[in-house]
Amino acid sequence: MYPRWIEAMVDGDTGRHLVNYRKGRWSCTCARLTRCSHRTAVELVTVPLGPATVQADT
Ligand SMILES: [Zn+2]
Repeated sequence: MYPRWIEAMVDGDTGRHLVNYRKGRWSCTCARLTRCSHRTAVELVTVPLGPATVQADT
């Protein structure tokens, strides 16, 4: 089950980004419109759905 609210700082190759999850929507301060590696990283440590449902699109 998804938690209600997540906020995390992620240090990536292009700098630090803030990933936020609230009310079913993910957002990230990087400019990508699709799932980014920052969001994926946060999902991997917060959402217990298993590896089959969490994958980067890069
Ligand atoms: Zn991002």
